[in-house]
Amino acid sequence: MTHSKNSKNNGKTDDLQLQDNTCPPLELVCGATLAEWCRRLPLLVDLMAYKPLTWINPNPGGSAGKSAVSGLTGRDIDAAEARLERFRPFIAAAFPETRPAGGLIESPLLPIPRMRAALEDHCGLLIPGRLFLKCDNLLPISGSVKARGGIYEVLKYAEEVALAKGLVRRGDDYAVLGGDRARAVFADYRIAVGSTGNLGLSIGIMGARFGFQVTVHMSAEARQWKKDLLRSHGVLVVEHPGDYSSAVAEGRRQAAGDQRCHFVDDENSVDLFLGYAVAARRLQRQLAELAIPVDADHPLFVYLPCGVGGAPGGITFGLKHLFGENVHCFFAEPTHAPCMLLGLCTGLHAAVSVQDFGLNGITAADGLAVSRPSGFIGKTVAPLVDGAFTVDDGELFRLLALLADSEAISMEPSALAGMLGPPAILQERDYLREKGLQEKMAAASHIVWGTGGQMVPEEEMAGYYRQGKELLTR
Ligand SMILES: *Cc1c(COP(=O)(O)O)cnc(C)c1O
Repeated sequence: MTHSKNSKNNGKTDDLQLQDNTCPPLELVCGATLAEWCRRLPLLVDLMAYKPLTWINPNPGGSAGKSAVSGLTGRDIDAAEARLERFRPFIAAAFPETRPAGGLIESPLLPIPRMRAALEDHCGLLIPGRLFLKCDNLLPISGSVKARGGIYEVLKYAEEVALAKGLVRRGDDYAVLGGDRARAVFADYRIAVGSTGNLGLSIGIMGARFGFQVTVHMSAEARQWKKDLLRSHGVLVVEHPGDYSSAVAEGRRQAAGDQRCHFVDDENSVDLFLGYAVAARRLQRQLAELAIPVDADHPLFVYLPCGVGGAPGGITFGLKHLFGENVHCFFAEPTHAPCMLLGLCTGLHAAVSVQDFGLNGITAADGLAVSRPSGFIGKTVAPLVDGAFTVDDGELFRLLALLADSEAISMEPSALAGMLGPPAILQERDYLREKGLQEKMAAASHIVWGTGGQMVPEEEMAGYYRQGKELLTR
């Protein structure tokens, strides 16, 4: 059985039209014709036909010591975690919802046995081991995984300004940074970011709380309610007709040369990356609390929805540091925008876009609607990530409805991309055999990273659910 058989909609086109793409021979992509690329990497034929597929990394280097590309190490993750600790009094004061956890921005790790049964039924295959949802859809403040990296980067910038301006010294209680005096200082500084939506929400809400002037450059897929919400926080939202890359480019251009403007560069930011990486430490503690072992006999599989790569890349970097070869990290992308998979398998990284291979990049998974991967992330995770798979848009909606019915959990379409991870990887028999995992799968844990959904308005969510139900009964 191949991965594409997972989808009950095989052959159906759902709301997006499949294109008949059979490697036009004359187009040159980075020195080779598309036909040559397809000969070198036969899976590109399926990729170009929008077929769901799984790519296994042929050259994983094992554990993360010091990244050869970025020079980052575990110490950098320690420093990021320590910074988040310093800000806990500020966060607890500024966002009452975080008070019960003392200003910690964290989400539950939840067993989802009923969804496992629904998934087995949906895919027609048994899933041994345990299935968990990492509920980043419930992260406080901005309701998505971006509440990790995005908020971390704003905190780091605020700390820099605060130290430079003498608002605090190291060791002080940062709660004062929510006061009027600090606000007056921050009001002279600007933050700009390009986003498909959720990064803008995180940066905008947190930046505005400090009193920064925040500009969010939104790409075409950004939902109206996200723009409205940001404007209600006093954030300047600039709408761009183009895709995510052009929104980022515009933000970068406007921020360039402005000494008092910090540009959050989703394609290149080390800060975002480290903010995401801290998630691994938190997860390690949660696994320990649930008495779930991760070792040579108890493999851990983690499935991460991927857009530009920062969130899944940072989390993978953190996890490989802690668990080495006992953790298996896979990225999940829409069949219409598999930019990271394409960058990794060709080795072209940011030099390639999905349009170069004839794909349109259009997907209902707005958080994943990215046509060109981050080169920094791709190169950093190339020796770490175990593989990547693609998911049809229709499946995202079906899984959304199945999760709502089985576990009463609502997530946005992007956040469901990882859910097909267990069935996809269980079918990769060569991978399981080579890694000696075949006999260990009954003792495995699977974590689907649920990356967003909490902020989605009820009506919008009801529409997603209806769409999923309708597709399930077709
Ligand atoms: C941004 C986002 C992702 C992926 O993160 P990247 O850093 O873009 O790879 C996944 N899911 C949701 C809901 C997101 O908003």
